Amino acid sequence: MKPIIIANWKCNPTTIKEARKLFGSVCKNVKKSKAEVVFCPPFIYFSIFSLKLPNNIKIGAQNCYFEKAGAFTGEVSASELSDLKCKYVIIGHSERRKYFSENDLTVNKKIASVLDNKMIPILCIGESQEQRDRGSVQDILNIQLREGLRNIAGPKIKNNLLIAYEPIWAIGTGRPCDIEESQKMRLLIKKILSNLYNQNMANNVGVLYGGSVNSANASDYVKEAGFEGLLVGGASIKSQEFSQIVKNSV
Ligand code: PEP
Repeated sequence: MKPIIIANWKCNPTTIKEARKLFGSVCKNVKKSKAEVVFCPPFIYFSIFSLKLPNNIKIGAQNCYFEKAGAFTGEVSASELSDLKCKYVIIGHSERRKYFSENDLTVNKKIASVLDNKMIPILCIGESQEQRDRGSVQDILNIQLREGLRNIAGPKIKNNLLIAYEPIWAIGTGRPCDIEESQKMRLLIKKILSNLYNQNMANNVGVLYGGSVNSANASDYVKEAGFEGLLVGGASIKSQEFSQIVKNSV
């Protein structure tokens, strides 16, 4: 599996001119990479990506709504996204859970709707510092996976699901998870998936790492810890740094 490197631009940059510049410069640097590079811009910048893209560059969304259409002011549905060139949708990012009251139930509905619309959900899971200190990491990951994937049948997610392990305490803090610890977490996630489905399915689901990834640690997560890719926040809006992350991951 070639590494998948996701650029989560979050609510950045503040103008379409900057967004075009950022995409243009990263695209030039990574278009021949063996990694798959996924840009997840704010919805308003989707038009930038409407031209023909190099084969290894894909578009993703940072969120979606689970209903197909209707009176849901401010929302964008999975069905609407699938009509654009959107291949991936980030679901359940900790910032969505924290600031927009998302929970495992809404996450589950969104996952189902992304899959129904033939896109690939990137299910974000991860513990807070307090939960880690309490020793409840295993329980938290177990609940987030079990509830997030409730009633989602195995065949539906085959080749169609990514899990992002993003410890909340590592996001945007400059305090990345220790490589050995992240490796343990990846194996734990595979074990939980194997219990929920089966070993074959667990092998089939890619697990990404996210949390203060930079060009110095990117290769360790992929090549040492075995993650199938990276979810990059802050560094994804710095064109040179992000391009270097992509280079170092293959
Ligand atoms: C994220 O928001 O998903 C993330 C991993 O952020 P950062 O890379 O800035 O820690």
